[in-house]
Amino acid sequence: MNSLEMTIKKDNRFIIVGGGIGGLATALGLAQHGIKSIVLEKSSKLGEIGAGIQLGPNAFHGFDYLGVGDQARQLSVYIDDLILMDAIKGNEITRISLGEKFRERFKNPYAVVHRGDLHGVFLKACVDNYLIELQTNANVIGYYQEDEIVSANLDDGTLINGVALIGAEGLWSKIRNQLVGDGPPRVSGHTTYRSVIPYADMPEELRWNAATLWAGPKCHIVHYPLHGGNSFNLVVTSHNDAPEPVAGKLVSKEVVRKGFEHVNEIARQIIERGKDWKLWVLCDRDPITNWVDRRVTLLGDAAHPMLQYLAQGACMAIEDAVCLSEQMKNGLDDIENSLINYQNIRNLRTARVQLHSREIGKHVYHPDGVHALLRNKIMKSKSQDEWYDNIEWLYGSTGLDS
Ligand SMILES: Cc1cc2nc3c(=O)[nH]c(=O)nc-3n(C[C@H](O)[C@H](O)[C@H](O)COP(=O)(O)OP(=O)(O)OC[C@H]3O[C@@H](n4cnc5c(N)ncnc54)[C@H](O)[C@@H]3O)c2cc1C
Repeated sequence: MNSLEMTIKKDNRFIIVGGGIGGLATALGLAQHGIKSIVLEKSSKLGEIGAGIQLGPNAFHGFDYLGVGDQARQLSVYIDDLILMDAIKGNEITRISLGEKFRERFKNPYAVVHRGDLHGVFLKACVDNYLIELQTNANVIGYYQEDEIVSANLDDGTLINGVALIGAEGLWSKIRNQLVGDGPPRVSGHTTYRSVIPYADMPEELRWNAATLWAGPKCHIVHYPLHGGNSFNLVVTSHNDAPEPVAGKLVSKEVVRKGFEHVNEIARQIIERGKDWKLWVLCDRDPITNWVDRRVTLLGDAAHPMLQYLAQGACMAIEDAVCLSEQMKNGLDDIENSLINYQNIRNLRTARVQLHSREIGKHVYHPDGVHALLRNKIMKSKSQDEWYDNIEWLYGSTGLDS
């Protein structure tokens, strides 16, 4: 045992509820400062669904802080552009170049990765770190705190003790339910279908090294390459007023086709090429100001669930992990104030992303008629420098500043 190990007492650890990207990132961030944690994951196996994820430069600052920068960079696909297409007319509206100028400005790249691969990087780093304990089949139903001890209550009656607890268990967080009690998430009425297909199955004219978004009335289609360009991630969304939350249900192609009958033939091919489509009815919440109850706080989707339209939910969870860890860098002496500082630094930035994600759904992704023409006119008129200025607030931050 080295001296650092000797100083860590048995329950002098953070309890992290949820082993998703946010939970594992937090465990790694705390470990950077010598803080021990136990991650409690409800599932029998730690993992992620087989779909893609876009990563802004802000996520890469986070990877470096968490000590997994090289590994995350190795598995990323570096796309050239973000392209916005008109899904009815079939023409390009605008594109944001992600080349050298973008990297210089934001100090890091924009990339896409397979979620499972990214989660695997975090998981390996956690497994290899003696400060981190991972426990599966641990379904947390609430917490209890007294003086300097916090307990996670498991559904089998077990209590897990620590000095602080982070609710990082996603959209349906039980910790949030106890801490905030603001009821179930808001059902957006937007239905997303996801599929991953081999490179060869992608229509030849759409094999672009870009994240492409086809925007149409009450629907949109997204595609980008994965796995070093060996496959394509397909995500199509219909604003069909779906009333109930659903996550990951297998559906037939006929179901997916329904919201896209009015879309240009080229974009519609995406639906025909997709296989094993899975359905999600998207949910989010209104931002809130209080994420802290003494030694308990929230992180990632548990704190600020958002629609995916800025492709930032996981990026924000990583930023949260960085910010919280930084607040803990001086040790465990003042946990309650450190958690309040974390909340105060993160609160408005994440609220902005939550609200902005909803708004671009309305004004960029799904408008019709004059609203769509206006979108095209405004977006076409921007130069690359103007685009970079517009996205500075999002990509120019690291999670350490509010
Ligand atoms: C269609 C779609 C596309 C997206 N695209 C992007 C993108 O391009 N870029 C981006 O940054 N974000 C994207 N997101 C958002 C991103 O997926 C989420 O914001 C991110 O996964 C949140 O991570 P998390 O760790 O907070 O929560 P989660 O990923 O939900 O992880 C929570 C973990 O907690 C566990 N858990 C749940 N309940 C309990 C319990 N009671 N006890 C113990 N464990 C529990 C779960 O099993 C899970 O492992 C997208 C989301 C969707 C729906």
